[in-house]
Amino acid sequence: MKFFIINSGSSSIKYQVIEMETESVLATGLVERIGEEVGRLKNTCFPGTPDERESVIEQPIPDHYSGMMLVIAVLTDKDKGVIGDTSEISAIGHRVVHGGEDFHASTRITPEVIEAVKHNIPLAPLHNPANLDGIRVAMEIFAQVPQVAVFDTAFHQTMPPRAFMYALPSSLYEQDRVRRYGFHGTSHRFVAGECARMLGKPLAECNLITVHLGNGCSMTAIENGRSIDTSLGMTPLEGLVMGTRSGDVDPALHLFLKQNKGMELEAIDALLNKESGLKGLCGMNDMRDIHKAVEAGDARAAMALDVQTYRNRKYIGAYMAVLGRVDGIVFTAGIGENDAIVRAESLKGLEFLGVRLDAAKNKQRAKEARCISLEDSPVRVFVIPTNEELAIAREVANVVRG
Ligand code: AMP
Repeated sequence: MKFFIINSGSSSIKYQVIEMETESVLATGLVERIGEEVGRLKNTCFPGTPDERESVIEQPIPDHYSGMMLVIAVLTDKDKGVIGDTSEISAIGHRVVHGGEDFHASTRITPEVIEAVKHNIPLAPLHNPANLDGIRVAMEIFAQVPQVAVFDTAFHQTMPPRAFMYALPSSLYEQDRVRRYGFHGTSHRFVAGECARMLGKPLAECNLITVHLGNGCSMTAIENGRSIDTSLGMTPLEGLVMGTRSGDVDPALHLFLKQNKGMELEAIDALLNKESGLKGLCGMNDMRDIHKAVEAGDARAAMALDVQTYRNRKYIGAYMAVLGRVDGIVFTAGIGENDAIVRAESLKGLEFLGVRLDAAKNKQRAKEARCISLEDSPVRVFVIPTNEELAIAREVANVVRG
């Protein structure tokens, strides 16, 4: 059984073809610069195997439909493709960013589901329309194939009101749906499931803190397998210090910037989303560059690292307080999986709460999921690679099997 996983952006389509029996990736790729003068498709067949082969096509790709048709042409190429024809695809999974309060789980796409995704456009004005483009095109091309929407927000729909309500006039929630939704849900759920397997008990009995540190960063408190709090908010701007996003700031900042610097709301939004976080603090948003700069004596880079890991530590402490008992802390995504310094700094001083990191294990580099705490650590610490496409594919399998 082969699944086609699609993550459609405003000018891009990221995709994978996954063979579900073995959960192996047959092809992965990215179409980008859709609508620009010259678009680009990069496709890799059998990634990470001796048969890996890459191809790049550059040509005008006016819209998502032509982008998708180009992907299909490459995937079904007689000599270089991975499938004979499109009938080999038995289901399609679409990443959808915002499901609002309408979706607590992944769901088969119907006209009603499309309407509900549209209804949530005000909550994700950049992402949901782009996700809908991918859905529309795939429904047109693969009319007979079951298609499933997998929402970034769905895993967090178990949060209680005390965690998701902002202390604002309640009419803003009741009439305008202003509340915390949380994102990265597919990743948090995936690594939580893998962690439960490593702990040797059902996810429904696990209390975990999952720490997703990539270009975007978020943390989730999971009680008995369910998300009860998470750091991203109504939009993916709140919480931890990210690559270019500020995370928590004083909400009065907007007024200050308007009154003192004459900035318009759109400019402030761009500042907080694109020019802040690690990049704002030190001019770099890739953690590898930041470490090199710290080694070379760059004080701003050292401060950026300190601000990010201090914020991580604060959130971990807060989530330990709300959970009471914690079985495991899980680090994942680009920084979480690879950066021993960030992990150690983020856990520094938490020994009194039962977190005892094994410094040697933490420093060992590996691609596999692993435990990096000392044998007798009451709270175990894990590094678990996230795999959002596989997580989406497993969701699709659950929905299709009913
Ligand atoms: P992601 O969004 O999960 O793809 O993560 C991307 C980020 O992970 C990059 O911007 C880097 O900051 C970080 N990253 C990737 N590899 C490493 C590494 N080996 N060490 C430290 N950070 C890394």
